[in-house]
Amino acid sequence: MRAAAVFPATKTLGIVPDFPEPRITSPKGVKLRILQVGVCGTDREIASFVYGTPPEGYEYLVLGHEAFGEVVEVGAAVTEFRPGDLAIPMVRRPCVAPECVACRMDRSDFCMTAEYTERGIMRLHGFMTEYVVEEARYLSPVPASLREVGVLVEPLTIAEKALLEAVRVQSRLPWDFAAYEHQAVVLGAGPVGLLGAMALRHRGYAVTVYSLDREPNRAADIVQAIGGKYYSSQDVTVEQLVAAVGAIDLVYEATGAANLAFEVLRALGPNGLFVLTGVPGRHGTTEFDTDAILLNMVLKNQCLLGTVNAGKDAFELAVADLAAFDGKWPAALRGLITGRFAMEDFAEPVLRPAGIKNIIEIGR
Ligand SMILES: [Zn+2]
Ligand SMILES: [Zn+2]
Repeated sequence: MRAAAVFPATKTLGIVPDFPEPRITSPKGVKLRILQVGVCGTDREIASFVYGTPPEGYEYLVLGHEAFGEVVEVGAAVTEFRPGDLAIPMVRRPCVAPECVACRMDRSDFCMTAEYTERGIMRLHGFMTEYVVEEARYLSPVPASLREVGVLVEPLTIAEKALLEAVRVQSRLPWDFAAYEHQAVVLGAGPVGLLGAMALRHRGYAVTVYSLDREPNRAADIVQAIGGKYYSSQDVTVEQLVAAVGAIDLVYEATGAANLAFEVLRALGPNGLFVLTGVPGRHGTTEFDTDAILLNMVLKNQCLLGTVNAGKDAFELAVADLAAFDGKWPAALRGLITGRFAMEDFAEPVLRPAGIKNIIEIGR
């Protein structure tokens, strides 16, 4: 069968025509026919050879971690899936260190050794191929009604994990946090930012998305469709943003732009929580008034939280939320998918991303 891969030694991308079709080898194995695979900045980094490692013994790495497929076969001990079910695989697999408390309880998203593996990224082949076999515990069921948008579950899990943590962090406040309306600012209008904006709106936050592109653009239209506000950083300064929003209770950062993050951190409101999800590139150093930032954080009881990857709880919540978004904002949700490509053309959206979310269509 075919698989889309990167070849680090020759710094090339290509289709492996004879990638072996996997077989179920354990009683809890599940074989998936891949329907769609989303492309994101991580794939671009891997394809630019700044990140990513092939499995041992391979000179290539099969790409793809945002996958979605249909169950075609299950092992003898699998009771939670049947052929015909839709399922989404998790990305990260635990390290083997006995002392890693997180991995030993199957929460490799909090791995303490950084020796974890990740499908399509780190020492495990990815999902940009026709069939994969996965242990049932790394799969979450997706209802048939989400067949058109199931590929968005994985990028949504970033926000779901962040918001699960946000609820726990803000439970430090000695009143019922859920009883008041809160102001959230989302930095970045890519898929992670927009799905985060939807998750926040769905929880009743007033949402403002702050991003580079000027209106009109598709991301701004989606923000308006879900009842949020959109400002371009080319027209509105951070000071003007804060003047328009008022006290910011939560910032969901999804750009990886460190300068912007610190500028907005300085503008965070009392008791506010700032959540970092973007992975910054290395752009050199900048000067910042660190005293002012720390002073604010102390005097305003603020929290700064970094978060990466997602556990099973976030995957299950993402599936449930995606169904809710589909009920509330079907056009906006579908509008996130702006490019569809055949497997043979995978290099195009990986190397030259345009629009919001590009996907590779593999099965039907
Ligand atoms: Zn991704
Ligand atoms: Zn670990």
